[in-house]
Amino acid sequence: MIPAVRGTRDVVPGEVERWQHLEQVAHDVCRRYGYREVRTPVIEREELFAKGTGESTDIVQKEMYAFTDKGGERVTLRPEATPSVVRAFVQHALEQALTEAKLYAIGPMFRYERPQKGRYRQFHQLDVEAFGVEAPALDAEVIEMAAHLVAELGIADAELVINTVGCPECRPAFSRALLDALGDRVAELCGDCRRRARTNPLRIFDCKQPADQPVIDGLPHTVDYLCPPCSEHFAAVREALEAFGVEYRVSHRLVRGLDYYRRTTFEILGRALGAQDALLGGGRYDGLVRQLGGPDRAGIGFAAGLERLVLAMPPDAAVAAPPDAYVVAIGEEARQPAQVLARDLRHAGLCTLVDYDARSPRSQMKRAGKAQAGQVLILGADELAGGRVSLKDMNTGEQEAVPRGDVVDRLRRMQKDCVAS
Ligand code: AMP
Repeated sequence: MIPAVRGTRDVVPGEVERWQHLEQVAHDVCRRYGYREVRTPVIEREELFAKGTGESTDIVQKEMYAFTDKGGERVTLRPEATPSVVRAFVQHALEQALTEAKLYAIGPMFRYERPQKGRYRQFHQLDVEAFGVEAPALDAEVIEMAAHLVAELGIADAELVINTVGCPECRPAFSRALLDALGDRVAELCGDCRRRARTNPLRIFDCKQPADQPVIDGLPHTVDYLCPPCSEHFAAVREALEAFGVEYRVSHRLVRGLDYYRRTTFEILGRALGAQDALLGGGRYDGLVRQLGGPDRAGIGFAAGLERLVLAMPPDAAVAAPPDAYVVAIGEEARQPAQVLARDLRHAGLCTLVDYDARSPRSQMKRAGKAQAGQVLILGADELAGGRVSLKDMNTGEQEAVPRGDVVDRLRRMQKDCVAS
């Protein structure tokens, strides 16, 4: 056996129903908030993320599956979706094509991280992005939508955390304040943090090294260094969230590990998840669209980790539906008619199983029971001679003979009643 690559995983029947449910809810919530789906390639030019995600981020520094392809071009498996969605928005001038510049994407992302529960090298995200609106009303709407998605999935023990990281106007003063507060203690921090202090001091808040935390906890807060427009924006986002009745906590450490964020940042944490507890995260990224060659448009969005949402969903969130019918063939002459009957039921929308291996009737009945089929349709010499099918309701145990010509309609009606009740 050749096992799957470390940090990747198969989603097998039993679990896949939870994914299908999640994806259905995701599509539905996005539709209701006015988002249109976009599907972008998993492979992109490396420079898209160097420019978009940011040279000083851990993602670009350490985690990209980047390589030179056979044509000599530097490409990478995408580590996140935002730069790809922005690229597609710009490349196809979607602003002109859509009344609302709201896009979402679902698909796999790749990061060379140390795998653990809730953290994989191939993982999946729902990515939600809205362009062209600077008003804090949209920040609040996007955050409320993220909270609604989590609630729709039945995840009860979730916590919303928000912060602001300011803008290019106020960030230099904050970076200076960080370095002043750190002073000589920079030397006590890990190698990554010492590098961050030189390249992008804000990134020090991304550090997960336990030994560094006491120093980082004592550092200044962004909210105390905001310029007046950033300060007003943050206040307006909070007010709008309160009007929505959305509960949240402000965390001064929430700067998010990507360089493009401006002003609002947020995360929703799943309390039951353990160490990798962020269900989703996002923020505003005014400036990114222009940086990636597009018009000067504001942007805001979030990415939700589907593996983590599936883990946090209640155990009974979704189960596989049993088959509607199982066709049992008795004797050689019934085998082909049984296949045709199964085909007719399938064309009528019913999930139908049938035997291929000339098993005994007893063994076929057993398999129908094991599959929890709702109805068993029996075809033998008598049924064939009389133009009938014996229909056995597996719940009541009742059996009756139904004309072959009526059987598809009959089952379809029974299925409809079943869905309605
Ligand atoms: P990020 O793109 O880093 O802001 O992450 C957004 C969300 O994607 C996180 O909140 C997680 O739910 C999920 N995520 C990020 N990295 C991973 C990973 N390596 N494995 C599983 N989920 C991840």
